[in-house]
Amino acid sequence: MIGAGVFGAWTAYQLQRSGKRVILIDAHGPANHLSSSGDQSRIIRMGYGADEIYTRSAQRSLQLWKELSAKAGENLFRPTGILWLAHEDDPYPVQSAETLNRLGIRFEELTAAEVARRYPQLGFDRISWAMFEPDSGVLTARRAVQAVVREAISNGVEYLLDSVEMPADKRDLDYVTTASGRRISAATYVFACGPWLPKMFPDLLSGRIHPTRQEVFYFESPVGDNRFAASSMPTWIDFKSEAYGLPDIDGRGVKVAIDRHGPPFDADNGDRIPTAEGLAEVRRLLALRLPDLKNAPVIEGRVCQYVDSNTGRSSASMSQRELMGAKRESNRDLVWRVNSTSREERFTDHSVCLYASIETADSERAKHASA
Ligand SMILES: Cc1cc2nc3c(=O)[nH]c(=O)nc-3n(C[C@H](O)[C@H](O)[C@H](O)COP(=O)(O)OP(=O)(O)OC[C@H]3O[C@@H](n4cnc5c(N)ncnc54)[C@H](O)[C@@H]3O)c2cc1C
Repeated sequence: MIGAGVFGAWTAYQLQRSGKRVILIDAHGPANHLSSSGDQSRIIRMGYGADEIYTRSAQRSLQLWKELSAKAGENLFRPTGILWLAHEDDPYPVQSAETLNRLGIRFEELTAAEVARRYPQLGFDRISWAMFEPDSGVLTARRAVQAVVREAISNGVEYLLDSVEMPADKRDLDYVTTASGRRISAATYVFACGPWLPKMFPDLLSGRIHPTRQEVFYFESPVGDNRFAASSMPTWIDFKSEAYGLPDIDGRGVKVAIDRHGPPFDADNGDRIPTAEGLAEVRRLLALRLPDLKNAPVIEGRVCQYVDSNTGRSSASMSQRELMGAKRESNRDLVWRVNSTSREERFTDHSVCLYASIETADSERAKHASA
């Protein structure tokens, strides 16, 4: 298993439990600061519009995280609740509510007046109603992935801090070599390299997977003011305004980010200092949604990468057909698994599995799910 982000870590853990002998290798360590899994927190939500496949996946995922938290004796999931802020002409929360209803997942629909009364610290300009998922919340991302790896190791997974070199272009991969000179041979190689996948397989993926630069900011809340802590404020998503925010978790600050694809990004050499423009845009969102924090000091700014098939020109995403095209073009017996939803989920001997946590544009997700 090459890569110990959230995908590689869980896959190593599960493969070992299914009786496989697993070696997990990461160039910089599990959920390291360069990786997409390395931030303090990640939202786990059930609302995915009409895409029931994602909702089911999130449901199962939350159950596994809770089991792992209990096993590891760590509080890895924080049930902050997820508050969807719905604009008048916004189909996504409506479709999410329909899906949750169908699957029997708890949620509340709140009028603008109700939600404003319940959460006076939030601003509801242009919001006509809200949907609240009380059982969803936030994973302590870095710590959670590291806990998965610790558990995997204690179950028998062998872990190596090393970098796997780009495989030579030939049909069967007899072995991989590492930066430190190891030569490792396996029946199956799984590349869960996130934003590094196009570098690992440039011929195959450089035109298909596009890591983008995303900025995230953490703000200090006023001393002695508990309104922005996880006990008082939910995680909120304003899908239409392309923004979301998380309460202060473990004293790390109130997190706010723009959920829009940024420019192309190189995970090794890209500039990880957030920009003044990025901060200004987030402050505009703060003024709208958390007005009392509009001038709050920044505690931390991070740059992370989405790993997307989006071309940047449009919302066109990598469809299942494109993936199959890439598979045909390659000389390898590839097994694709895209965001855990691909139908091509076969682990075969002498195969190379590429994991790309592809963040598809939501408008395209329905097509994927039904493709
Ligand atoms: C700003 C931001 C906000 C997000 N918010 C959410 C959210 O709220 N909820 C959610 O579900 N998702 C969210 N995501 C997406 C989520 O973080 C990613 O889908 C996930 O972390 C990807 O995990 P991964 O294992 O595919 O990749 P990574 O975490 O990047 O892991 C890849 C690993 O491979 C290793 N590696 C690469 N090349 C090699 C090599 N040659 N040899 C050895 N090791 C190698 C790297 O060191 C790295 O550890 C967000 C992403 C970003 C950027």
